[in-house]
Amino acid sequence: MRRKGNAPIGLIIGLIFLVIFGVLVYLYNSSLFEREAPQIALDKEIEWNLKEPIHMQVTDNTGLRFVRATLSDGEKSVVLDTKEMKNPEKMVDFNLSFPKTGFGANKKIFELTIEAVDASKWNFFAGNESRAKSVIKVDTKRPELSVIGSSYKIMKGGVASVIFRAQDDNMKSLYIETNFGKKFYPTPFHKEGYYISLVAWPSHIDNFSATVVAIDRAGNISKAHLPYFIQDKKYKNSTIALEDKFLDGKIADIISEVASERSSLGRLEKFKYVNEDMRKGNEAAILKVTSVVPTKPISDFYLKPFYPLRNGKVVASFGDHRFYEYDKKPVSESYHLGLDLASNAQSGMQTSNDGTVVFAKENGIYGNNIIVSHGLGVYSLYGHCSSYLVKEGDTVKAGDFIAKTGLTGLALGDHLHFGMYVQGVDVRPEEWMDEKWLKESITSVMESAKKIIDR
Ligand SMILES: [Zn+2]
Repeated sequence: MRRKGNAPIGLIIGLIFLVIFGVLVYLYNSSLFEREAPQIALDKEIEWNLKEPIHMQVTDNTGLRFVRATLSDGEKSVVLDTKEMKNPEKMVDFNLSFPKTGFGANKKIFELTIEAVDASKWNFFAGNESRAKSVIKVDTKRPELSVIGSSYKIMKGGVASVIFRAQDDNMKSLYIETNFGKKFYPTPFHKEGYYISLVAWPSHIDNFSATVVAIDRAGNISKAHLPYFIQDKKYKNSTIALEDKFLDGKIADIISEVASERSSLGRLEKFKYVNEDMRKGNEAAILKVTSVVPTKPISDFYLKPFYPLRNGKVVASFGDHRFYEYDKKPVSESYHLGLDLASNAQSGMQTSNDGTVVFAKENGIYGNNIIVSHGLGVYSLYGHCSSYLVKEGDTVKAGDFIAKTGLTGLALGDHLHFGMYVQGVDVRPEEWMDEKWLKESITSVMESAKKIIDR
């Protein structure tokens, strides 16, 4: 009998423990009792201009119950913001403003403390707590910025220079903004705190304005407008009637040589593909290479006028807007981004200035294509080469022969397509072939600026 009566009691006790254990395991693993503390996104050090609020964010996977931000100067503490939530929130954003009262005006260093508690039942229902601290450095001083010298004018499609001084203990970014969205980046010049940059006005943009912008880590901004004289220039519009000979010859050849997967397209579609899609890809490749601006400080930048092809006759000019027709109907359009020069077939082409070969390969409509970097974001480009005399990575000296002219890519006769680029923008090659322009726009500006800097 005893045995019979005891067995169920032992079993029941065992079952009760099992159930309690099961409930504990369940609770331990359930989100109600999760043990992950809230995440506080806060930099260890923040420079603050006291104007824009400090933005910070706290997140928690179960939800936040309480978040508080406190600012202290070592003596006094001021609560900047508190949030207590009846319904837990997974994310809390704070935009913290400096308190109007509470601290002395001359305090520059503070400590910001963020405390956050989540809605977990862990810790005897108290929840998980996080705390993060940040050192706040008050910086309300704008960067010092002044233009030391600049070229007098900029022509549509052309280039101008600027030399300026920019100084701040916490400088974050320095650039020249333009009315067309492009930013130009300066190179350190001559002495600490001085910079030089070239700026370019794209030939298809109607107006030009540029402003040097200096921003420190606290967000203080200084700006200096560049007062160039703006010189308009008209570029040519031309209409070209497409001939079957050209479509079935050159265009069909380019397709079969570098885009054979498009061979099934019709003859006009092939032309559209070459003139639009292929061109876009080729120009993107050029943009990528020519956008690089050296950051090593320079004290001099001197270029001789470019003269890439001896006795080269101009056969097409820079900036031409070309409209293509077939059977008197518009088919496609494009801009010509260089100067075409022709001499005898397979003439040697020279680089007139020292540099580094940064590109030497087949590039669609540009055919065999060489790009040389001359420093300060200035690049010269040579298209349609029949053969290369240099390779990528080579250093070239002024006067070196780098390739031979030809008709690779979208070229009908043997010629050189000569292009100049400044920080990725195609610019008028004529300026870079003009000794007077180089002197007035770059060399003299630099020499006068150095006199001022050295004073
Ligand atoms: Zn050309």
